[in-house]
Amino acid sequence: MTADVRFSRVAFIGIGLIGSSIARVMRRDGIADTIVACARTQKTLDTAKSLGLCDETTTDPKEAVRDADLVMICTPVSTYGAIAAEIAPALKPGCILTDVGSVKAAAIRAVMPHLPDGVHFVPGHPIAGTENSGPESGFDTLFEGRWFLITPVPGSDQAAIDKVAALWRAAGSNIDFLEPEHHDQVLAITSHLPHLIAYTIVGTATDLEEHIKSEVIKYSASGFRDFTRIAASDPVMWRDIFLANRDAVLEMLGRLSEDLAGLQRAIRIGDGDTLETLFRRTREIRRGVVEARQHIPPEPEPGPEAGS
Ligand code: NAP
Repeated sequence: MTADVRFSRVAFIGIGLIGSSIARVMRRDGIADTIVACARTQKTLDTAKSLGLCDETTTDPKEAVRDADLVMICTPVSTYGAIAAEIAPALKPGCILTDVGSVKAAAIRAVMPHLPDGVHFVPGHPIAGTENSGPESGFDTLFEGRWFLITPVPGSDQAAIDKVAALWRAAGSNIDFLEPEHHDQVLAITSHLPHLIAYTIVGTATDLEEHIKSEVIKYSASGFRDFTRIAASDPVMWRDIFLANRDAVLEMLGRLSEDLAGLQRAIRIGDGDTLETLFRRTREIRRGVVEARQHIPPEPEPGPEAGS
């Protein structure tokens, strides 16, 4: 397959699940002449190299970005400020700097103060993922049929935006544009809160007495199973998401708590109508998700079970 976009030198800062998946797309479609991978550990770099995802490796971010015409930050959001400060003096004028972080306003705040003149920053977020981490977990179909959200910053260069969009179209994604704060509010309810609920339920279950706990696992197919998959997501990445998107998450959590209290009361007073009305409404929401074809979990071939 030939893509509408080509880069001569691409640097990945972080090559885990997301970075390695888009690197696989670049390899598959011949989008990058040279790929340089940067990670904290040599082990990750050795894995990326042995999987054929990159031509060069380094643990030094400024070494990685030298002469690159595309730099992709694919690390947890809390690392952005330090990485941006380190790579800024080594970025080539005209280079495109982009990212895949799950929270956009905080990511932009961390990068912008370090952005040199003549470097084009195009923040983005693929709405696709699994509960697995590391370069071995990636696969080139992860982004197919999913959204890639671009949250431009003031003065974003249109040609740079077009190139980043073309890259993600090659990965099979649909492109949309959102204001960073709006993105963070939407994701707080569609992604961050569901993860918080999953972490809470699984945590509560593991605090139960020993004999109940074993039955929770045994009969988990009754619903608990789906929460355990989400609650297996990367601890560092999710710590960063909640801290970086604090205001939007707290706002949505407040609304959820109010609604939960309403349901608690309905159950206590035997108000079946309230329960049934809500459950009918939510069943319709699921139909909408299915119609938008966002219900099918990503399927690596062959590989680990995928999901969120
Ligand atoms: P991951 O599999 O854990 O990979 C993280 C990568 O970043 C690893 O290669 C790690 O290297 C590297 N890294 C961490 N700190 C670093 C530092 N200070 N300097 C250089 N490299 C560093 O994570 P991921 O799931 O791909 O997530 C990456 C980003 O994508 C996050 O910002 C996340 O919010 C976003 N995202 C994730 C998903 C998802 O479902 N996973 C979906 C959409 C967006 P080592 O292995 O050597 O530590």
